[in-house]
Amino acid sequence: MDNPLPHITILYPLCPSYSGSTLLSLLLGSQQGIYGAGELFIFSKHPERIDALQEGLCSCNQKRYQDCDFWTKTNALISEKYGLTLEQLNVEAEDKETFLLHNSVLLEAISAISQNTIIVDNSKIVSRFVQLQQAGFNVIPIVLYREPQAVVHSWVKRQYDWWDVAHYYPSFYKEVVKYANTQDTLTIRYEALVKNPIEELQKILQQIDIPINSIDLNWQQQTYHHLKGNPMRFQKDSTISISNDWKNRISLRQQFWIVLLAFPVKMHRYWFYLFWERFVVLFTWKRY
Ligand SMILES: [Zn+2]
Repeated sequence: MDNPLPHITILYPLCPSYSGSTLLSLLLGSQQGIYGAGELFIFSKHPERIDALQEGLCSCNQKRYQDCDFWTKTNALISEKYGLTLEQLNVEAEDKETFLLHNSVLLEAISAISQNTIIVDNSKIVSRFVQLQQAGFNVIPIVLYREPQAVVHSWVKRQYDWWDVAHYYPSFYKEVVKYANTQDTLTIRYEALVKNPIEELQKILQQIDIPINSIDLNWQQQTYHHLKGNPMRFQKDSTISISNDWKNRISLRQQFWIVLLAFPVKMHRYWFYLFWERFVVLFTWKRY
């Protein structure tokens, strides 16, 4: 498969929602040559994304994307070159030709307007990563891990059921190991990133051969145009810290189950996920 955009590299974090990918994307996007474009799957015809695009506010000025300078320029460029608008794009199209065209158009315009050749797409979902890879794009997965108890707690705060999320967490990474297990997969731990951002960013950039003169941690000084993601994208100072709220909010019994279910994530072998699912089902025939 020919690479449709050989001059562009896509960095693609893979993790469940609320694992810290907005922070990772903001930090990566602060480095020279890299542009954090937010969750690009928002330009799609998927019903959930259409609402998010219409309701989402750009992180630059907290206005709708039509009122943002960056997206207005991107829109103008793609309509001038291809006769398309951002609203018409379907970057999750099932049809291969549309997928290739619409993603090429969007990525090329973002690269031209931002003047960067490395773009962080924070969509996170595995299916989009696989589609991009199969279409020949140069896409590098960055698997991001955050403690399962902390992830479950973040979902619970948004009214999700802890038991469902405790099952979802390992199933997400099972999908990663099955479909996105490439040789150049990078891994990073959220807790380590927060603790030692310079070292962790250096490790990633070295592995993808990006020359690093110095690491810039002042992500709040840059202007971003994320349309979706954690509200921290609106934050005006660069302080980051680990929240241990979950320790008081998630009971010991819940913690036990969350850690037990997430156990295969540490090993990250597909066969072990399958084995463990069968093993724990013996204990979980009755909920809790
Ligand atoms: Zn903007």
